Amino acid sequence: MTSLNGREFADCNHDHRAPKDEIISLPVSQSGIGRHRCPICAYAKGYEEGFAQAVRTLENAQRLATKFINHELDPMTENLLRLDQEEQ
Ligand SMILES: [Zn+2]
Repeated sequence: MTSLNGREFADCNHDHRAPKDEIISLPVSQSGIGRHRCPICAYAKGYEEGFAQAVRTLENAQRLATKFINHELDPMTENLLRLDQEEQ
């Protein structure tokens, strides 16, 4: 068990770590032989995939912003971005 920023983390035997409260809140599954998975590994995999998606979203936003600044977008997309700016 590890504590970080006031939150307790549980470690598994596969070198993964997850917040203890998140793991405890998961429902119990008895879905048959071979379906019992390590919840800490599952949490870590979901976290990694979510993080990778966030990075891709940021990269896409950066590409879009660069094209917008350089006027490399099609007029319709550029117009939509201008309208979105005006609403804020
Ligand atoms: Zn594990």
